[in-house]
Amino acid sequence: MTDNCLFCKIIAGAIPGKIVHQDEELVVFEDIAPQAPFHYLIVPRKHIPTTLDMAEVDEALIGRVFRLAARLARQMGFAEEGFRVVNNCNAGAGQTVWHLHFHLLGGRKMTWPPG
Ligand code: AMP
Ligand code: ZN
Repeated sequence: MTDNCLFCKIIAGAIPGKIVHQDEELVVFEDIAPQAPFHYLIVPRKHIPTTLDMAEVDEALIGRVFRLAARLARQMGFAEEGFRVVNNCNAGAGQTVWHLHFHLLGGRKMTWPPG
């Protein structure tokens, strides 16, 4: 666990989170400020600060993120109507927690382009 990292603390159980899935590599919990009827954060257990810090060894992990997103979207019933998987990289893109994560958003019509 990396000190002073909010998501490391949630993954370790030191801070409560509404966890909906966990396995050896990934933890999924509800976003505290949901931007859609369904808003989950898919978070690798490994502390990687941003997309820019990914290494070659992390490639398979990110593939699993997207497969898990699809599985959860089907399970929760919003897959067919459409959903979005979003990664914000660095402050200019809206990143506020420096532990790599992917937003899974669904349950409403999405607009494009994103803000
Ligand atoms: P980002 O802005 O892309 O870095 O995403 C960080 C997300 O973490 C935001 O959507 C926040 O609402 C969410 N968040 C912040 N604190 C918590 C928390 N304690 N539990 C769950 N989600 C959180
Ligand atoms: Zn972390």
